[in-house]
Amino acid sequence: MSLINKRQFLPDLDFEFFSQDNDSKKRRTIDLNILTHLFRLDDQIETTESENKSQPINKQKTETESDIESETPWFTILDEDEEDSYQPPKLLPFPSLDKEGKITLCLDLDQTLISSSFTENKNYDFSVELSDQGKNWKVFVTKRPYLDEFLQECSQMFEVVVFTASLSYYANSILDYLDPENELISHRLFRESCSNFKDGYLKDLSILGREMDRVAIVDDTPFAYSRNERNAIPAKRFFVQDNNPKFVNWRNDRELLKILQILKKIQHANNVPNVLGKVKKKMHLTKN
Ligand SMILES: [Mg+2]
Repeated sequence: MSLINKRQFLPDLDFEFFSQDNDSKKRRTIDLNILTHLFRLDDQIETTESENKSQPINKQKTETESDIESETPWFTILDEDEEDSYQPPKLLPFPSLDKEGKITLCLDLDQTLISSSFTENKNYDFSVELSDQGKNWKVFVTKRPYLDEFLQECSQMFEVVVFTASLSYYANSILDYLDPENELISHRLFRESCSNFKDGYLKDLSILGREMDRVAIVDDTPFAYSRNERNAIPAKRFFVQDNNPKFVNWRNDRELLKILQILKKIQHANNVPNVLGKVKKKMHLTKN
C-alpha cells in the first residue's frame, strides 16, 4: 500500500517530508518514523513518480530503516501462532531410535540403587576416586542386591534415565562403573536438573520432554517425586552401615526384584499413572 494513500487516515499530520529541500530533512525523518511505527511501513514505503520525482524514495527508506534498526526492543511479542507452538526447555533430547515408543523410566541413584560412604567398610563392592576443586575423596559403594540384573532388565523394557539430585562428578563416577559401555542407561540427569524447593530437590517429570502418561520414576525420597506422585514407584531406602542394626540384614534386601515386577506390568501401558494406580492398590507399597 502506498504511503500517499494513507493520507486520508492521518489528516492532521504534516507531510512535509515529501519536500525536497535539505533544511526540512530532519523534519521529514521524524514524520516518517511516526508513520512507519503507526503503519509498520518499513517494507512498504512507496510513492508515485509525480509526487516525488527528484529524490528517490529508496533513499528515505534506507535512512528510516537504519533509525528503526538501531532501536533494540527489550521484549519479544509472540504472534498467536508462535504462542500456540511455544515449548519450554526440555531436560532430555529426543529418544534414540531403539528407545522410540518405550516408556521412560527415571531411576534415583543414592539409597535406591546403591549405598555409598566416605568411610571404608567391609561391605563395599567398589570404590571411586573423586576430585573437585583440588580436593580428593574416595567413596565406597555398595550395590543394592540384584542391581545388575535390575538394570539389565530395565534397559530392555524402557528408556532408562538415572535422575539423581547428586552432583555430576560424584554420580558420573559411579554410573561409569555400573554402566561402563553406556548400554544400560540412556540419559543421566544430575542436581542441576532438579528444582530446588524448600531446601529439597524436586524432580519435575513434566519438563523431561516426554508425555506424562509415558513416564515412571523409582525413588526412595517421596519429596523428590511429590509433584508427579501418580508416576512414582516408591522404593524402600537402601542404606548400608556397619554396626547399624536397622540395616544389618541389607543382604536380604529384595526391593529391586519387587519393583521389577511392577515395572513389568507398566512396560506396555498407554497410561502409566492409571496402571500404576491399579497396581498400587493391589500391592502393599510403602514409601519408606
Ligand atoms: Mg535417593
